[in-house]
Parts: sequence; C-alpha cells; structure tokens
Amino acid sequence: MRFNELNLSQELLLAVDELGFTEMTEIQEKSIPLLLEGRDVIGHSNTGTGKTAAFGIPAVESITSEDKKLPAVLILCPTRELAVQANEEIRKFAKFKRSVKTAAVYGGAGMEKQIFELKRGANIIIGTPGRIMDHIRRRTLKLQNIRCVILDEADEMLNMGFREDIESILSDIPQERQTVLFSATMPPAILAITEKFQNDPIHIQIKSAQKTVSLVEQFYFSVAMGRKTDALKLLLSAYSPSSAMVFCNTRKMVDELTEALVKSGFHAAGLHGEMKQLQRTQVMNSFKNKTTQILVATDVAARGIDVSGVDAVFNYDLPQDNEYYIHRIGRTGRAGHTGSAYTLISGRKQLFELRDIQRYTKADIREMELPDKADVIAIKKNSFVNEISSYDAPSHEAYEILDILASKGIDYREAAARIISEKLSAETAALPEFESARPIKKSRRGKDIPTVKVDINIGRSKRIAPNFILGALVDATGMSGQDFGKIDIFDDHTTVEVPEAEMDYIIDSTNPMKINGHQVEVKLYKGGKRSEKSSFSSDKRNHSLSDRSRHKPDRKRSAYAGRKKSDVFGDYVPNRRKRVKNKH
Ligand code: ADP
Ligand code: MG
Repeated sequence: MRFNELNLSQELLLAVDELGFTEMTEIQEKSIPLLLEGRDVIGHSNTGTGKTAAFGIPAVESITSEDKKLPAVLILCPTRELAVQANEEIRKFAKFKRSVKTAAVYGGAGMEKQIFELKRGANIIIGTPGRIMDHIRRRTLKLQNIRCVILDEADEMLNMGFREDIESILSDIPQERQTVLFSATMPPAILAITEKFQNDPIHIQIKSAQKTVSLVEQFYFSVAMGRKTDALKLLLSAYSPSSAMVFCNTRKMVDELTEALVKSGFHAAGLHGEMKQLQRTQVMNSFKNKTTQILVATDVAARGIDVSGVDAVFNYDLPQDNEYYIHRIGRTGRAGHTGSAYTLISGRKQLFELRDIQRYTKADIREMELPDKADVIAIKKNSFVNEISSYDAPSHEAYEILDILASKGIDYREAAARIISEKLSAETAALPEFESARPIKKSRRGKDIPTVKVDINIGRSKRIAPNFILGALVDATGMSGQDFGKIDIFDDHTTVEVPEAEMDYIIDSTNPMKINGHQVEVKLYKGGKRSEKSSFSSDKRNHSLSDRSRHKPDRKRSAYAGRKKSDVFGDYVPNRRKRVKNKH
C-alpha cells in the first residue's frame, strides 16, 4: 500500500514524497491507520523496519493549530542518539506543517536550550526518560495537554533501567490519551507495562525484515577489555575456517595481530596500504591459493578484493564507518555460498556502535558466547572424522606397532582412542580460556568473597586513569574486568581490590607489566589482610622479573587456571551470564 492511499493531509503527503517514500513498510501499513484513529498499539518489529515513520507520521498529523502552547505528543527513546535521529526524521515529516514544533530533550546536554525550546511552544517532545523526568520535575515540561505517548524501542529502555522513570512518566500523563509502544522483543516486563498503561491495545507483529546480506550469518561476541586477540584465536581454532579475513582499523593493529596469530601457529598474513606493491601481491596470491588461511587487513587495503571461498569474516575492530561493515561482510557469502561474520566488541561504547551498525544495515546480528574447551571439542569432532577418513592407508609398521600394543593388553580400539585423544588435547591445550563474568563481591549465597588490595607503583602523576589500570590487569592476567574491585588512584601509586584467592596469581602474572608505557611493580598493599609471610617474598618477585621478562606466566600452572571457579571461591557458583539479545 502506498502512502497516498492513506487519508493524510496534503502537507504530509508532500513531505513523505520529498523523502522519497512511496510504498509503506509492513509495520507502517498496519499501524498508521490504527494510530490515526487514536487506537493504542503494540508494534512488535525489528530495527530497520521503518518504525519512526510509523509513529512519526500520525504524530505530526495529529497536531493542529490549537496545539500552540503545550506539548501534545511525547516520544520516549532509549538514547540520546535515537532521540536526535527520531527528532530529525519527524521534523522532515513536519516540513510543510507550520503548527508542528518539536523539541529533543536528552541527558548530557545543557538544560537552557531545551528549556528554551519547550517554552517556545514545542508540541512534539522527543527525549530520553531520565531527562524528561528532570523537565517534569522542574515544571519546564507540562503534561496536561499530552494526548499521545509513544515508547520507542521499549525493550531497550527497560534493559537500560528506565522502567521506573517510564512508569512514573506514564502515571503523570492524563489518562485520556493514546499509548503506543514499539519494541523489537516482547519480554514479560513489556507486557506488564502494556497491561498497566494501555487501553485495549492492538498487537501488530511483523516478521523479520530482509537482511542486508542474506547469505551471511552474523554474530557478535562481547569480550573483556584486552582479550580480543585471545578471543580471535579461540574462534579461529574452534571454527578452523579454511579461508578467513580479519579486519582491523589501523596498519599497526594489522601488524601486531598478524604477528600474534603467526606466533600461535596460524597461517596468517597482513595486508595494509603501506606495504610495497610486490609484497601485497605476494600476500594476495598466497591468500587466493589458500596457502595463507587468514588475511588480516585494513578496510582500505581490502577494498575491491574478490576472493572466492572466504568462509568467515572477523571484525577485530568495529568498522569506523557503517558502510564498511557491509563491505567487510560482503567478502564472504559470495556467489551463492554461505558465510559467517563475527564481530568482537569490548565494553558498552562498542555495543552502542554495533547497535548503530545493526540499525543502519538492518541486519540481524546475534550475540553468541565464546566457546569453551568442551564446545571446541564438540565442534572439532566432525572435522576430526573427516580428517582421519582422508588419511592415506596405514603403513606396515603401523600395524606392527599395533600388534605390539595388543600384546601388552592395549587392543586396537584402545590404541586408536589414545592416539585420537592425544591429538585432540594437543589441539585444545593452548586454547585461551574465558571465565564467565561475575561480580567480585557477592557469592551466590550473598556472602562476601574475601578480597585484598594490591598496590601498583604508578599514579596520578603519570596521568593514569582507572581504565588503564584495569586494561593492563585484565591483559596480564586473562581475568575478567569484573574480577577486579575498587580502584583508588593516588599521586604516586594505585590500589586495586582483588579476590584474595587470586592474589598470588595476580602478582605472579603482573610482574612485569607495563601501564601506559611505564614499567610497574604490583605487590600486596600494606593495609591488606594477608600476613607478611605470604608466598610472594621479594625474592620470588625478583626471580620472576629476571626470568620471565618477556613471557607471560603459564596460566596452566597458576593458582587461577586449571581450577574450577568453585574451588577458588569456595561455595561461590559462577552464574553463566546468558545475555539477552540487544541488551545493554
Ligand atoms: P526502525 O525504527 O524500525 O529501526 P527507522 O524508522 O529508523 O527504522 O527506518 C529505517 C530507514 O528506513 C530510515 O532511513 C527511514 O528513512 C527509511 N524508511 C522508513 N520507511 C520507509 C519507506 N516507507 N520507504 C522508504 N524508506 C523508508
Ligand atoms: Mg527506530
């Protein structure tokens, strides 16, 4: 159905036409007529299906010249970016409607300008719940004339902890109103809001929209700061792609990552713009003929590369431009083959960036958890069967050895099983391990986990920020950022709260350690609980300094690795955090 088949005003049809919209999307076709009638609606559809227009067009249409003074429509969005984006799009719909004035209100920006816009008679208000609450409290946002409230990306707002704000705002708005809710998922918390605040709503559900590159399955992994390289190694080992591309944003990162991969035994080569043409050609040829399995490249260097049979693309760094994402993943899934794209992210900021990419590309990028050793073995089972089936016929000597073994009571089956399990453990022994994220303080039964403080001889005078400290600790220990507690930065030193049970391991793996280019020393903080006779005398530290100056300690032998969390933490049982898709 086309927009001009709707009973819309000339002003709106003109604006929609100027935007180049002709056909409505499914969610628009189903929801706009109901919204124009004033019905309450629950719109359940993915990102990129055109929800802004679905609620924005009826909102603009509902404004009349009577609405000069007071807000009539309130739109709640989860983030500042989304509020700004929705505001811009709604302004475009209102281009020829003089009576519409919009205001975007969100946190992290000055109040004055927002108050000015509100005072000037804005009648469509778009904002984040927290800041809207602020304006309500200051009475700079008046609610008595609000006829329509729209919750955009409601599930995301709940994930971000806005539930109370939303409920409070909805309770403050006159009951004679239209309440509209859009959400990509429908968890029970959304249904609860619906139940409480909507009036006989109509539920519209739209099946997933067309994907950007439909033959490429897209996933992302959230990994602790400083552990992307390990995560990549783990994924490459687990999936053993015969041909894969890894994307980084800088030449330096390409070089570092290639070196790290080669050191760990992967057939990897780097490609970036500052390499000589001859060298680039060599790298490309060896990637094309599959001698090099893994090509680590920058976007610019990889532009226009058309290699068939690339099974996987890894985004080590998030692309700097949304369009790059499409280019990158388009390197796989070519010519009707399927492929997979894996994106590694660390921290909230990158999660937001990824969500932005998702919106832009209209892609379904699903979160996966990193595989653990058991998962890798399970994944490898099949490739082992194939590999062994493809071996040449065994030699005469091999049978002789089997006969000798049999005479010692190890029959053929047992012998074969031993060889296979050796091979399996050889391939999985060096896999990086990832612990599930967990809080430092509380055990599952609410008991405090005993903690001590370590002291690091660097502080504010060297312009150190907590994230430098945390990043270095995570990097050196392989532990999760959440294993570390409070960080106090003083002028010339810093203390960090750590689980007592892991203190020895932490000291051991952090000497030596560099923070921001400075060599630092990590030791137990004087005020800590542990007595002086603890096992890390200065002797031991000196020893580790001289002996291991270039090596990370072997985690297998440390107190931390090789033990289950429950051993280390007594009755603490780690709760494997299954993250909810789209969660922040
Ligand atoms: P959602 O909120 O569902 O994620 P958006 O409202 O952000 O989706 O819309 C995604 C993109 O599609 C935007 O660039 C928007 O301008 C465009 N769009 C929306 N509706 C239409 C339409 N009917 N025809 C063409 N483009 C549209
Ligand atoms: Mg949207």
